[in-house]
Amino acid sequence: MTTLNCSVKNCMYNEDRLCAKGNITVGGQTAAKPNETRCESFRERTGSMTNAVGRPSKEIDVRCYASKCDFNEACKCCAARIGIAGSGACSCAETECASFDCRGSSRR
Ligand code: SF4
Repeated sequence: MTTLNCSVKNCMYNEDRLCAKGNITVGGQTAAKPNETRCESFRERTGSMTNAVGRPSKEIDVRCYASKCDFNEACKCCAARIGIAGSGACSCAETECASFDCRGSSRR
């Protein structure tokens, strides 16, 4: 499990920077930098829609297709904590995994 901090306030799953989805999928198979990744689980919050989908949780399972990320192990994120960014996002393309760390430029 990964500790998640999400700034995508416009997502229906977001509550106080936590995610209520239960698990998320990060996309960006050819990504070489954070802004080429995205949270594919993003769903735009519309109208008076509230988060009635589940309980927000600090820890979450992250399926990840950003295969060039150093934290990607067999399509799972193994980072202790990540941040999903995109405060004004209206689509998943406007979100990103801010913790993406390209293989070869690793700080570990
Ligand atoms: S953008 Fe992704 S991580 Fe953030 S609340 Fe929505 S589904 Fe969860």
